[in-house]
Amino acid sequence: ADYRAWFEKHTAGSRASAAEAARYIPGGVQHNLALNEPWPLDVVRAEGPYLWDVDGNRYHDFLQAGGPTVLGSNYGPVREKVAELLAECGPVTGMLHSSEVRLARLIHDFMPAVSRFRMLGSGTEGVMAAVRVARAYTGRAHVIKVGGAYHGWSDQVVFGLRIPGTGSLEATGIPAGALRLTQEVPPGDLDGLRELLVANEEIGGTAAVFVEPVGPESGTHPVRHDDNARIRELCDEFGALLVFDEVVTAFRLGMGGAQGYFGVRPDLTVFGKCVAGGYPAAGGIGGGDEVMSVLEGGLTAVGKRAFVGGTLSANPLSCVAGYHALAEMDRTGAPGLAGRAGDRLRAGLAALIERYELPYVTYNIGSIVHLHTSGVLHLSLQDPDFFNQLGPRTEMLGQMSMAYSAEGLVTIAGSRLYTSMAHTDDVVDDALARFDRVFAR
Ligand code: PLP
Repeated sequence: ADYRAWFEKHTAGSRASAAEAARYIPGGVQHNLALNEPWPLDVVRAEGPYLWDVDGNRYHDFLQAGGPTVLGSNYGPVREKVAELLAECGPVTGMLHSSEVRLARLIHDFMPAVSRFRMLGSGTEGVMAAVRVARAYTGRAHVIKVGGAYHGWSDQVVFGLRIPGTGSLEATGIPAGALRLTQEVPPGDLDGLRELLVANEEIGGTAAVFVEPVGPESGTHPVRHDDNARIRELCDEFGALLVFDEVVTAFRLGMGGAQGYFGVRPDLTVFGKCVAGGYPAAGGIGGGDEVMSVLEGGLTAVGKRAFVGGTLSANPLSCVAGYHALAEMDRTGAPGLAGRAGDRLRAGLAALIERYELPYVTYNIGSIVHLHTSGVLHLSLQDPDFFNQLGPRTEMLGQMSMAYSAEGLVTIAGSRLYTSMAHTDDVVDDALARFDRVFAR
């Protein structure tokens, strides 16, 4: 009740925006990340590790726009390059721009398994392209994904494909036919994956296996460290392409992404988020020369190649921002610094959980920090059923969400926190003092 009182007293501007939004926007928010109890915060300023709302409240920003800002929010040197570009040619012309080439070359240099890169408008589009390229390249139709993985919101690989145990569709508006060629295996179930690959041999084989290399939902369900290498072997054995969805991990886990981190080379890599340096229209697909040749073709080859498009794909604004952000991240060592901040945050949260003997669990992989507060005491991260045993998303989550905001903390749904280079020790320690106050209550 106190936290609700804080909202009523200090967030009148956000409340007014939310009331108007509810009238004109379905559900009152344009983006799930903005969902908040008792109402969304209207944020007007962002800088490094902080956000400010329209009422002047400052928050520690562990949302980091959902992941693309490893340098911290609204990083000045990248903003300046974007401003120069805008003054010169505006955000988009539809013609070739040198920034596209420089960005593709940088990605080629950093990512072990990427020789050629095609920029697209979002991670979702990158995944759609990967499905198409894999089918075109292999001449096969079936694709396999891992249960609980988020690969964007396209029909074929939508999140929460099936309600566990029922086999029925969870997603409204997607006809069962759209999922006819999509198959799912539980996280970490490599025997199940092998069985499926064997069974598919009878029905034309498998085009691709899609994985989030840190585990489904950015590692919400953790996987064993060597799972990726073993999936690589299985793909080789059955002639399926291995697709790494690196929308979150590329450049966040390191400049070589998860493929550098785990030392495993996928056939195709999907990009999003960081690839446009925290600016809009962030997506793409990369791979070796041969597999990427499926996307080749001049004016006369249209219709022969696998088609991808997008009016705003590879616009100069996204490419300038992406190029300069990646170059800065490499120069400053941002992924490593963000990762150290993630370690410090996780260690601090773990100490608080222990001190107050709370049924919570926290873990991280670099700058991707997970915090589950819905009742998971004594559950091993290696438990194959970890994901299903997380407690239900109860009213408590709404209470926690209010508590975090009132203490000046913004997270992803109270359960995931991204750190950035701007999360210095002092910043993390101040944030931990705020978590302390929430957990103490
Ligand atoms: N793949 C993963 C692993 C993601 O986390 C996301 C978005 O969060 C996507 C794909 C979809 O990317 P976008 O939101 O740019 O469409």
